[in-house]
Amino acid sequence: MSEVRLRFAPSPTGYLHVGGARTALFNWLLARKLKGRFILRIEDTDVARSTQESVDAILQGMEWLGLDWDEGPFFQSDNFPLYREHVEKLLSEGKAYRCYCTPEELEAKREKALAEGRKPKYDGTCRNLTEEIPGKPFAVRFKAPKDGVTAFDDLIKGPISFNNEELDDLIIQRSDGTPTYNFTVVIDDASMQVTTVIRGDDHVNNTPRQILLYEALGYPVPKFAHVPMILGADKTRLSKRHGATSVMAYRDMGFLPEAMVNYLVRLGWSHGDQEIFSLEELIEKFSIENVGKSAGVFNPDKLLWLNHHYINESAPDQLAELLIPFLKEREVDPEGGPSLPAVVKTLQERSHTLLEMADGAVFYFRSDFDYDPEAVAKFLKPDVAPRYEALLAKLDSLNEFTHDAIEAAFKELCADQGIKMGQIGPPVRVALCGGTTSPSIYEVIEVLGKEETRKRITRALDSVRGG
Ligand code: GLU
Repeated sequence: MSEVRLRFAPSPTGYLHVGGARTALFNWLLARKLKGRFILRIEDTDVARSTQESVDAILQGMEWLGLDWDEGPFFQSDNFPLYREHVEKLLSEGKAYRCYCTPEELEAKREKALAEGRKPKYDGTCRNLTEEIPGKPFAVRFKAPKDGVTAFDDLIKGPISFNNEELDDLIIQRSDGTPTYNFTVVIDDASMQVTTVIRGDDHVNNTPRQILLYEALGYPVPKFAHVPMILGADKTRLSKRHGATSVMAYRDMGFLPEAMVNYLVRLGWSHGDQEIFSLEELIEKFSIENVGKSAGVFNPDKLLWLNHHYINESAPDQLAELLIPFLKEREVDPEGGPSLPAVVKTLQERSHTLLEMADGAVFYFRSDFDYDPEAVAKFLKPDVAPRYEALLAKLDSLNEFTHDAIEAAFKELCADQGIKMGQIGPPVRVALCGGTTSPSIYEVIEVLGKEETRKRITRALDSVRGG
């Protein structure tokens, strides 16, 4: 079997959108599964809208997701001579023609057609011109067949056909000499020997035009797989109204790339009712045949659920690295407190995002927090003072400052004082972190260490005593 060659061909006119990322991912997975090649091609022929910033954002997004490419990035703007060559070839073979109609003339024809209730379409004024008109600007149009049918078997949507009658004589080169999208994409996919084109289904209508161009140029026609779009909860196309649509915005909100990849792949592809897939498993199990025909609905709660899963599964050291920028954003010095992986470990189970984890970690690094007034009213009452004192003595006497030893100390203290855990646990929690939610206090005490715990309990003790 010959090598499978896939590509992702974003236009650099914005960030990497979750829809684009999913398209890239499907291409990448299939390339990896079939041991083929994955090509990255930046479609920057629209000079006015393309920016270097967008190119960087797209590359950054792909790198973050771990979608490495084998060839490229290629830039269409480097290929103008190649496109020009192909225009000349079609012209010389009589498969394309110069169109001298001015934009005004075309607009007038369009309006007339609309007024007469006809579908606007190029009327072929220049299709049979035999002579060139020197000095007059022209666009180049592809001489499309007037009848017959152009059909393809979409790997996702099944057979699709179009009456050629409905297809216009497409402009392949504008009067300013620049080539148009449907033309460049064919030249590039052909010259890069792309075997399967996986892209968004907003391109379905372009496909017959492109197939006709492949045929006219004598190039093999690739297979096509058009991926249904992503919708928001209200079933309209996913947009900023539904929340963040940039992949990198999810990194900034504290999502892990593994979660994003797992989420995106399931948004349109399934393998039974399995939800969680490692990358290796995805490479093994992914297939275009199991991409659904209907649009996926973006569900932020499910993404959070997956992110929580991956946070919970990740190695604390790795998470600690990823957490550092989030802590710095909160003006926390990650070096100036307990060991970060130890902190992470106490928070993994309770965090859905790194952002949430960072918020939950701040108290470990700052002892000057204000107490939550509600917690103070409820738990920092004068009768707590002797319990705090007893706890300080107990903790001081511990040789081993481990979770289990600390837990045992609390149990002893409860027995000694004839109190329940509920009478010491919450006030200790307020003393340690300022409020009523935190990881288990045994874990927190272990991570803070004896000195810092002592400091914090003493501060609360002073406060209870009215100090
Ligand atoms: N550059 C096109 C886009 O961003 C993709 C073209 C294609 O995949 O064929 O929509």
